[in-house]
Amino acid sequence: MPFTLKPIVARQALTSTYGSNIAINPYQGCVFACEFCSAIKMNFFTGRTKEKWDKTGWGTWVDYKTNLVELLHKEKEKIKKSKIYFGNATDIYMPIERKLGLIPPILEFFLENPPIELEVQTRGTARDIARDIPLLQELSKKTSVLVSYSIHTDREDVRKIFEPKAPSLLERERGLRLYNEAGIETRLSCMPILPLNPEIYAERFAPFVTKRVWIATMNHKQLTKDLFQKHFPEWLDESFVEAMMQKTREEFEKRGVKSFYNSITPEAKKERWEWREKKIVERKLKPIAVITDTNQLNLF
Ligand code: SF4
Repeated sequence: MPFTLKPIVARQALTSTYGSNIAINPYQGCVFACEFCSAIKMNFFTGRTKEKWDKTGWGTWVDYKTNLVELLHKEKEKIKKSKIYFGNATDIYMPIERKLGLIPPILEFFLENPPIELEVQTRGTARDIARDIPLLQELSKKTSVLVSYSIHTDREDVRKIFEPKAPSLLERERGLRLYNEAGIETRLSCMPILPLNPEIYAERFAPFVTKRVWIATMNHKQLTKDLFQKHFPEWLDESFVEAMMQKTREEFEKRGVKSFYNSITPEAKKERWEWREKKIVERKLKPIAVITDTNQLNLF
């Protein structure tokens, strides 16, 4: 499928995420095309497919928003009161960003109008992230800045199966390290956890993590079930995965890195669901779907 890159005019800069936080995505689509990507749903929202979870074409198109800074000025009162996720449905440091340069003017806007917290989400290479480090350092003096850096395994063969178009592990180690050496707070996103050796993974990446590691599963039984079945069937066994997540957590904590760990025991899943329901009631939000059987919530 040929790749298409297209400018678009956005109607708003900020989009709501779960809770009271907001996100900014200068791009729609993502060239990294990870097999487990939840943003694949954008295929559906942008009318490129009729199916919500259809991978067809994901990674072959990117739309970039040409009017974000203009919109940010209109929405700045909201920004000052918010925690902002920067790039939660794309990667803001895809290689095309080097040419398009959408991110620096947005960071410059934040320097003038700092949010409560800015969380950059990326798996970009050192080459791609380096340009904006001075701006993030400046912004760190004015507000809390955190880079949530995604690395899901210590195994390059695993990376090639689940994220064949994303940067290699060596490139990502350099990226994470660069942020760390620049004094920017880093969190390691191991979400979803992919087949890994917990000890080697922690030994390799823990030295560059200042905040914590987030360990969780994600759509193992939706988008990536076939890949797990073909290459790593033991990773479809919930108790095996639970044990691997625990072990990964232990290895990081041994090295002085705190963790957030999303247990997948039935009790933990039920508890999370009850918490979500409570939040929905508190915030008087309508549920997206009415679910009567908590087994249907098996997002693992
Ligand atoms: S980098 Fe992020 S947005 Fe891009 S395909 Fe991977 S998971 Fe999706």
